[in-house]
Amino acid sequence: MSQTARIIDGKAIAAALRAEVALRVRALQASTDRVPGLAVILVGEDSASAAYVRSKTRACQEAGIASRQLTLPETVAQSDLLHRIAELNGDPAIHGILIQLPLPMHLDERAILEAVAPEKDVDGFTFASIGRLVENRAGFVPCTPAGILELLDREKVEIAGKHAVVVGRSEIVGKPVAFLLLHRHATVTLCHSRTADLAAETRRADILVAAAGRPRLITADMVKPGAVVIDVGINRVAGKLIGDVDFEPVARVASVLTPVPGGVGPMTVAMLLKNTLHAFERSLH
Ligand code: NAP
Repeated sequence: MSQTARIIDGKAIAAALRAEVALRVRALQASTDRVPGLAVILVGEDSASAAYVRSKTRACQEAGIASRQLTLPETVAQSDLLHRIAELNGDPAIHGILIQLPLPMHLDERAILEAVAPEKDVDGFTFASIGRLVENRAGFVPCTPAGILELLDREKVEIAGKHAVVVGRSEIVGKPVAFLLLHRHATVTLCHSRTADLAAETRRADILVAAAGRPRLITADMVKPGAVVIDVGINRVAGKLIGDVDFEPVARVASVLTPVPGGVGPMTVAMLLKNTLHAFERSLH
C-alpha cells in the first residue's frame, strides 16, 4: 500500500511563524523604540538543557527579541535563585522569564516556577496560567501544546466535534493539549500508562496526539484510517531521533501526520517567541 498521509512540515511552519514574529517586533520597535526581552535561567551544566537554551537564544536574536541568559551553578541556593527571579520580575526590559527544566533535585521546582510574575510566565507553567487555561481565559499556554494547535490550525484540521485522543497526561504536554482541544470543542480522551486498552482508545481517534515518550508506541493497527496523527515524542534510539509513532506504516493509514524530527519540535521554540511578543505587547498597554 502506498503512503496516503500528508506530512506536515513543522520546520517550514515554524519558520513562517518566526518570520511573522520578527516582522511584528520590527514594527513595534519602530513605533515604541523598545523590543521584547526574554530571560532564560539555566541551572547547572546539563548538556541537553544547555543546547535547548542555545537554540532559544539564537531564535530570539533572529526575531529581534533581546535575550538574556543567566547560567547559575548546579549548587545554587533556592533563596539565590528566587532573588534572581524577583529581580527579573521587576526589570522593565524583561517581558518573559523562562526557567529551563529540569532543575537539580535540591530545588523546589514548583516554588521556583511560582516565583515568576504571571505576566512574564511565557512558558505557561505557573498555577495562574494553568488556571486560566483550564477556564479557557486568555493567558500563556505552554509552548509545545500551543504549537500543536498552531500546526492543526495552519493545516486547516477541523477540531470541533471530532474525537481527539491524547496519549500522555504530563503537565507540560498531555494535560494542556487535552484542554486546548476540549476548548475547541473536540471530545477528548486522555490516555496514560494505566489505560486498560490503549489500542481500543486510539482507534477511535479522529485526531491522535502521541506524547508518551515511548518509541513507536503507536502502530498502524492502532490508528483509524484517515486520522490526523500528531507525534510529540522525541526518543533517541541507536543514535537516531524517532517519535512515538511508527512513522512509515502509520503514514499509510493516517490522512495527516507529523514527522520526528521536523514536526512538533520546531514549533515549541516558535511559540516561545510568540508568547514573549505577546507579553511585550501587553506591557505596552
Ligand atoms: P512524561 O512526563 O514522561 O509523560 C509521559 C506520559 O505518557 C505519562 O502520562 C505516562 O503515563 C504516559 N505513558 C508512558 N508510557 C505509556 C504507555 N505505554 N501507554 C500509554 N501512556 C504512556 O513526558 P512528556 O514530558 O509529556 O513528554 C512526552 C514526549 O514528548 C517525550 O518523548 C518528550 O521528549 C517529548 N516532548 C517533545 C517536545 C517537543 O518540543 N516536541 C516537548 C516536550 C516533550 P503515566 O502518567 O501513567 O505515567
